[in-house]
Amino acid sequence: MSLKLFNTASRNLEDFIPREEGVVTMYNCGPTVYNYVHVGNLRAYVFADILRRTLELQGYRVEQVVNITDVGHLVSDQDEGDDKMEIGARREGKHVEEIIAVYSEAFHMDLALLQILPAKSYPRATAYIVEQRAMIETLAKKGYTYLTSDGIYFDTSRFPRYADFARLDVKGMKAGLRVDMGEKLNPTDFAVWKFSPEDLPAHADGRRREQEWDSPLGLPRKGFPGWHIECSAIIKKLLGDTIDIHTGGIDHIPIHHTNEIAQSECANDSPFVRFWLHSAFMNVDGEKMSKSLGNTYRLTDLHERGIPPLAFRYWLLTAHYRTQVNFTWKALAGAQSAYNRLTNFVIENLGASGSINKEYTNKLHTSLEDDLNTANAVALIWALMKDSALSLGDKLTTLYQFDDLLGLGLRDIVAKSTLAPVPHEVQALADSRKIAREEKNWVESDRLRDAIKEAGFEVKDTASGDQELSR
Ligand code: AMP
Ligand code: ZN
Repeated sequence: MSLKLFNTASRNLEDFIPREEGVVTMYNCGPTVYNYVHVGNLRAYVFADILRRTLELQGYRVEQVVNITDVGHLVSDQDEGDDKMEIGARREGKHVEEIIAVYSEAFHMDLALLQILPAKSYPRATAYIVEQRAMIETLAKKGYTYLTSDGIYFDTSRFPRYADFARLDVKGMKAGLRVDMGEKLNPTDFAVWKFSPEDLPAHADGRRREQEWDSPLGLPRKGFPGWHIECSAIIKKLLGDTIDIHTGGIDHIPIHHTNEIAQSECANDSPFVRFWLHSAFMNVDGEKMSKSLGNTYRLTDLHERGIPPLAFRYWLLTAHYRTQVNFTWKALAGAQSAYNRLTNFVIENLGASGSINKEYTNKLHTSLEDDLNTANAVALIWALMKDSALSLGDKLTTLYQFDDLLGLGLRDIVAKSTLAPVPHEVQALADSRKIAREEKNWVESDRLRDAIKEAGFEVKDTASGDQELSR
């Protein structure tokens, strides 16, 4: 069977074939690092990880980029309110750079704890200001933008396909308009650049914002990029004008992704994304899990309540990524006991030899190729466990194959029992350090080395660029 994915653009299951043979370019919208990510956010990255593993199963090399939003995401997803990063810094009495470091590191730690394979790169929006400015200037030269007193806006009436992607009812929006449009020409217009506001209380050095840059087009006021332009500019720079796959949560469809499409297609004159994939939300008691509602949990909160990260990952996989899930402690406890049964099975049968049962692995592949049906894949694990026709060794060997695709840390149990155990937390610090080193962030990598030392481990860098941990 070939890989079928549900493409939001067509609202249909489509056969996936990359543009270039053997390589898939994929971009996943990353977190805004003004606070810790919650377990609802993490669903989007576990889903992207399953997608990546399934693409690799097809033999593709995946060029995966996950951005880190560290500027420009305003309190509303539209263009109102203050920047979440400035608010975060003021809330904590810190510099924006400091909170970026803290929450990016926490994000990488969560990814490692959830066995999410590292992407090729995690570009920060603030590292791509030049590219964002260049794209804005291209759009301005082509007549897609206009100037207001608070920024540069994209004129969505100039892009006739604007409403298609999210099936927006623009006429209805205009008729039902209750909000003040300010100087916007159309209700769907959005900022590609904002000028630093003059009503924010100034910092000690007199700046209104910590993060501000020269504006495009030689405009005299300082400013900062709008949220959507970062993804368009980073994708163009790191992956190209047209990419194979773009993912995010479903909340991104009507604004963020719709705006990315408008900017990129108008600036580049090429189709932007071939496959759009969106993961559904995580609710708590029927309401969206979100920081603004105060009903969020972090991975560490779960850990403190006895639910290890990989039991949480297991729980996520029991639902299809396009199905909304409801977070309850009862559901998580159920997932944890199921996950424990799996880890116990591995521990009890460590070293048992056997062969891969192709019937099960074929069914597993078919499930994942069917728009990443992880719920089916998990059901297959239990069918395998209960199959009395198979030896324990065959079950274990086949289970490891499942683990390679589902990332439940079952193979690690072998490593842990035969080598000096490295706790997840220490491994996560080492993984963050690897990223810091790749980004040539030596201050951060030294800090992480110290943190690893404090945890009782020493890290050595090998000639091949890997790290070795020892006690
Ligand atoms: P943000 O940091 O708000 O940009 O969100 C990061 C990612 O998490 C985005 O892809 C969102 O769509 C996704 N997301 C946010 N809240 C939830 C939730 N409650 N359940 C699932 N995904 C979410
Ligand atoms: Zn994005």
